[in-house]
Amino acid sequence: MRKEWSLDLHIHTLLSPCADNEMLPSTVISRAREVGLDALAITDHNSVENAAPFVEKGEKAGVKVFPGMELQTKEDVHLVCLFEKMEQAYEWQKRVYQKLPPLQNKKEIFGEQWVVDSHDHKLRELDRLLLVGTDFTLEEAVESVHLLQGICIAAHLDRQAFSLWGHLGNIPVGLPLDGVELTPHLPRNSKQLAQLKKEGFDYLVSSDAHYPNSIYPPQSFAYLEELSLTELKLALQHQEGRYIRTLR
Ligand SMILES: [Zn+2]
Ligand SMILES: [Zn+2]
Repeated sequence: MRKEWSLDLHIHTLLSPCADNEMLPSTVISRAREVGLDALAITDHNSVENAAPFVEKGEKAGVKVFPGMELQTKEDVHLVCLFEKMEQAYEWQKRVYQKLPPLQNKKEIFGEQWVVDSHDHKLRELDRLLLVGTDFTLEEAVESVHLLQGICIAAHLDRQAFSLWGHLGNIPVGLPLDGVELTPHLPRNSKQLAQLKKEGFDYLVSSDAHYPNSIYPPQSFAYLEELSLTELKLALQHQEGRYIRTLR
């Protein structure tokens, strides 16, 4: 049955060096329930290694969790890459690690990178530096994610840092992006919104939460037949009666 589902498709965990160490499965999922999210995505920088415990915790609590990653491309643009299944996410992970410079994380500068289980136990610290550009160009990244049946969303498009608009000024013609995301807080620019509409996108608003209390009450609602990436992809491009509605 078609209905609107509330979403926040950009959330970090304590694996991201810049995220709070309280971004644990139980905290994130209970906060998502508290604010009324039907679905969320786990999107750590260049890694999916913490997605599985959140998917597991979400299943038990009735919150759909899409495994994902916030990829940093060669152009230093952030792309939210989402997958339906963990197997696809792990396959993507292998490719990303091959394209990630083999540098060590300096945790006193960048922060700690913890891998956890679904009971919030800290299992190990990831040594390699995650907060760095990979060797994937935008085109290569989108193409490779599509080969694994995933989708790519331009992250925080209206922010200067690490965004397509900020770095390139536009969405490159011919780049087969699946969707775009705007921040919850920056002022909207009517010219930019008109441009997105012309390009066929219904934008998402995602929290990009690094702290539990920055997981906000739902800002984006997707009208879908069911909560799946196939349906979401249609909604992001306003096709076949599917759409995204945002509060602003
Ligand atoms: Zn980002
Ligand atoms: Zn982010």
